Amino acid sequence: MSNRDDWLIRNARVVTLAAGDVPRRGESLRELSVLARGDVLVHDGLITRVGEGIDAQATHELDAKGRVLMPGFVDCHTHACWAGDRLDEFERRLAGEDYLSILKSGGGIMSTVRATRLAGVEELRTLTIAHLERMLAMGTTTAEVKTGYGLEMQAECRMLEAIRAASEGEGASAMRIIPTFLGAHAIDREQAGFIDHTIEEALPAIVKMQPGIACDAYCEDGAWSLDDTRRLFERAQALDCPLRIHTDQFNSLGATRMAVEMGAASVDHLEAIAEADIALVSKSNTTAVLLPISGFCTDGRYAPGRRLIDAGAAVAIASNYNPGSAPSPSMPFAMALACRMMKFRPGEAIAACTVNAAHVLGLEHRVGRIAPGFAADLVLWDECDERALAYELAGAPPALVIRAGAIVRRSM
Ligand SMILES: [Zn+2]
Repeated sequence: MSNRDDWLIRNARVVTLAAGDVPRRGESLRELSVLARGDVLVHDGLITRVGEGIDAQATHELDAKGRVLMPGFVDCHTHACWAGDRLDEFERRLAGEDYLSILKSGGGIMSTVRATRLAGVEELRTLTIAHLERMLAMGTTTAEVKTGYGLEMQAECRMLEAIRAASEGEGASAMRIIPTFLGAHAIDREQAGFIDHTIEEALPAIVKMQPGIACDAYCEDGAWSLDDTRRLFERAQALDCPLRIHTDQFNSLGATRMAVEMGAASVDHLEAIAEADIALVSKSNTTAVLLPISGFCTDGRYAPGRRLIDAGAAVAIASNYNPGSAPSPSMPFAMALACRMMKFRPGEAIAACTVNAAHVLGLEHRVGRIAPGFAADLVLWDECDERALAYELAGAPPALVIRAGAIVRRSM
């Protein structure tokens, strides 16, 4: 039976995203290259054919009955490895305290840091898998996962070990995982020489474990300064790490310009981006990663998504899944917010969560599209129009999630 294909999915509304340059910009962002009634053939975890009326036999055949088949979401900005919870902080914020004042009083990120430092690798792995399973259940098949709740070399290395182990061995998550080093997530005021330690010890130790890992920083008042972020990034570039940055979330400190000038893969957040930086980002090869769930959960401010798109920027949308400012594993929810609060069109939101997000992670030739040679990371939705994914709020999970040709979720 070895000459049989693994999967033949027939009669699907196939949102291929196959045609066009990557990353998508401007009007091409909403071109989804949809096959109204298409078939998809899968072999050995890869898509081998996409078209109408494919003549083949497969071990698993499925009549999609006109429902939407999409590439699995690529969530290119998450903090899905953490221990503890932030339910007390949730109550404090509901009682009126703001995010930065909680951060300055040692709450916020530092409370998750304390819980994460206490957890061993095995416990962190188990917790990370649990978070990733929630993401898979909502149609995400590739997730970037940041360190950044260790904030010192050994704890950061344990986080990286746990993130990597989440996709390996018994009980592993089916998620495709891309780790990022975020040792510059906050300032640990209890550690003398913390900034030098992060740049001179933690970063090189992490790169030794995972050559080529991206280096991220949170540049903000009360967190990493512009000058310290630049020092970190210069060291990271010398170690061949792609750069990413949390920038302009509350204050515009000049980090967006610096990151673009240093050739960063992405500038993330941008709720407070300066006027001149919109044009700068739009003319660059740096992708703007927008995180509408944090705006929704913190203070109701959102990045100017429509203006970035109209100016020609490469944009991606991510969940920012974390226990503080974005406790949601759902890309459809992020898309629904992006449409309402950032004025994305549904098709633009879909491209921003698939093909453009894959580009941020350097995976644009493997995931985020339905085309021959791409990973068979496929999601079948109980919808006959893909716009419904961004329309419905807190909607139903997909009918079927396939990762590398294997079913990982089924609710049909
Ligand atoms: Zn983040």
